[in-house]
Amino acid sequence: MREEERLSNIRFIVDCMHGKLARKMRIYGFDTKYDITLDDNRIIEIAKEEGRTIITSDEELVNRAKAENLQVIRVSPDDDLPRMIEIFSALRISPEIDPKRSRCPNCNSPLTIVDKKEIQNIPEKVLKKKRVFYKCNGCGKVYWYGSHWKKIREFEKTLKKRLKELKEGEKIEFNR
Ligand SMILES: [Zn+2]
Repeated sequence: MREEERLSNIRFIVDCMHGKLARKMRIYGFDTKYDITLDDNRIIEIAKEEGRTIITSDEELVNRAKAENLQVIRVSPDDDLPRMIEIFSALRISPEIDPKRSRCPNCNSPLTIVDKKEIQNIPEKVLKKKRVFYKCNGCGKVYWYGSHWKKIREFEKTLKKRLKELKEGEKIEFNR
């Protein structure tokens, strides 16, 4: 299976503690379910029905998922960077952000490039300055490459570097 295909087949469900993480996973293009109204029972059910990998810091949920033979990744409760290192290294992937494949951080729906003329309620200044706009097929929110995007790219760069170091570390150990 091609790497791209493998990546597009990976789907997640994130527990209610990790909303910010879910947003980032969606920007990376992963179909990531996150809903604060879901309890552990529902999370288990959905993971089973939809073949989703559970992401959680909750030990009880980890154990329940394992008992049900579901794929689960336990992440540390601190910060998104170490969490995503844990997720990507557990799956042995090193994905890159491709805005064409990104999903809406708000609602997980795919985005489509839209013509400026079709956009409403965006400041005139932004419309003049930016050329590419994406619209969410679900909630209708419009995105463009602003200052937030720069931060995302920086995050991606750091994450990629850390994953690479981790991989090289493994290799050294393996060769010993
Ligand atoms: Zn949306």
